[in-house]
Amino acid sequence: MATRAKAKKRRPAAKKRSLTEYKRKRDFATTAEPVARRAPRRKQELPIFVVQHHKASHDHHDFRLEHDGVLLSWAVPKHVSTDPTVKRLAVQVEDHPLDYATFQGSIPEGEYGAGTVKTWDIGTYEPEGDFAEGLEKGKLSFVLHGKKLKGDWTLVRMQPRPGERPGKPQWLLMRHHLTK
Ligand code: MN
Repeated sequence: MATRAKAKKRRPAAKKRSLTEYKRKRDFATTAEPVARRAPRRKQELPIFVVQHHKASHDHHDFRLEHDGVLLSWAVPKHVSTDPTVKRLAVQVEDHPLDYATFQGSIPEGEYGAGTVKTWDIGTYEPEGDFAEGLEKGKLSFVLHGKKLKGDWTLVRMQPRPGERPGKPQWLLMRHHLTK
């Protein structure tokens, strides 16, 4: 196929965040979880982050960062660690509505994620650089302003591995190392 050698270098359009998958997985007549509603873009101070302690079939943390009207979401099977020498596996899951940041309570049996959800930490964060670009490239750096979690953190996406569940990219969550 003939292509122009000097095709203009264009950045691919950032992926639109969507709550379709969130909605598909839940029955809102049964669960008290927030409905799939995109929040209007907020022009206020700083976006929020939340870590939820989710006691489901597996006891884990959910790490969420507000971005583009939704919460980017990762399940952290071994819980978030504040130890800067520890990297935690963080499996990216479907975007959640912004309202989910303040959701606490139980998810009934038979529903997706059945169990209890409690806030473990909540606060604001400062994205470093362009987050849309970071999502494409698989590296997000940010400063957390929570009660338990503070300072520089990084999420790095790993190369897909054979057998990885499609649509659930694996990342590593770690406190930023200032010395290598
Ligand atoms: Mn969860």
